Amino acid sequence: MAVPFRKTSKSRRDKRRTHFKLVVPGMVKCENCGESKLSHRVCGTCGHYKSREIIKQ
Ligand SMILES: [Zn+2]
Repeated sequence: MAVPFRKTSKSRRDKRRTHFKLVVPGMVKCENCGESKLSHRVCGTCGHYKSREIIKQ
């Protein structure tokens, strides 16, 4: 098994981890209910898009 030749420094390790994001990009807050949703998509929680109800509850 191949083993890394050099120890990864704390700086290098932490720089790598800056790409580990908490949420997927493109997540925005719903303007109606405040839930996080994908932008340019109808909200999955309340069914609103562009301040209008698209999916009847
Ligand atoms: Zn919503």
